Amino acid sequence: MDGKRLRDEIVAGIRAEIRQLGDPSITLATVLVGADKPSQIYVRNKHRKAEESGMVSRHVELAADSSQDEVEEAVRDLVNDSAVHGILVQLPLPEGLDAERVLDLIPPEKDVDGLTERSMGRLVRGRPGLVPCTPLGVMRLLDRYGVSTSGKRAVVIGRSTLVGLPQVLLLGRKGVDATPTLAHSRTTDLAAQCREADILVAAAGMAGLVTADFVKPGAAVFDVGISRTEGGIVGDVDFDGVESIAGAITPMPGGTGPMTIGCLMENTLTAAKLLGAI
Ligand code: NAD
Repeated sequence: MDGKRLRDEIVAGIRAEIRQLGDPSITLATVLVGADKPSQIYVRNKHRKAEESGMVSRHVELAADSSQDEVEEAVRDLVNDSAVHGILVQLPLPEGLDAERVLDLIPPEKDVDGLTERSMGRLVRGRPGLVPCTPLGVMRLLDRYGVSTSGKRAVVIGRSTLVGLPQVLLLGRKGVDATPTLAHSRTTDLAAQCREADILVAAAGMAGLVTADFVKPGAAVFDVGISRTEGGIVGDVDFDGVESIAGAITPMPGGTGPMTIGCLMENTLTAAKLLGAI
């Protein structure tokens, strides 16, 4: 399952939709505190894709030693700016800053990361809103590659609010209708649990955790975990060992990573719609 290709399709689709609407100015704003290198690269990629999608991007960069009040004020300015449709605060924040208090300021309509308490509440309650980009990307891949979900068993490894937990909620939603299990570091006999899965999503951040004996023949396997090693980026899935058993599999890199950015663009367009801007 080619995440780069589907991301490009999503970006092209958004660009076409915006053009058809007469090129309204849809703005994604990012906030970066400190000079963490990987975060800078992530933010730069997001801006590049926003521009390719026909959207406007705005960037607010604050010094690593900014106070909680300074960060909150920067976010509040974006919340109050009607020209801004999506707000993304790049996490993690430097030590000493309370990310929860910063996220709490973002209204659900502008919460393109889908990470705030109110966005999560909407997801749980099945109300329209924005959902986290990485699990949404997995849902888009399932759909694009024709993986059937109704009545299927799914196992998600990892229970974070960023990936695992919303993934389980999305897979179990009415209309998707899979039966998901949430596995984590205390799950006993993880391999046996995973072997039951028609859909397996690995989001533990443990290089090579999912080996051939975790995979049911024909299963769709999604690799979300990212570990940086000397040899480059490595996923949670032992791709070479699993590829011949799985019915479908995402590469790492080139699978769920690009889809995360593609879905951020989709969420920004959705935000503009939720705000009534288009
Ligand atoms: P996290 O550290 O918050 O959560 C990891 C989860 O995995 C925990 O719930 C833990 O219980 C579980 N876990 C850890 N080791 C395990 C093991 N041996 N067996 C079973 N469960 C285990 O991380 P996160 O924010 O959810 O991110 C998970 C991974 O996904 C990280 O590697 C992160 O870099 C990556 N990530 C990738 C993308 C993407 O676009 N592909 C996006 C976000 C995060």
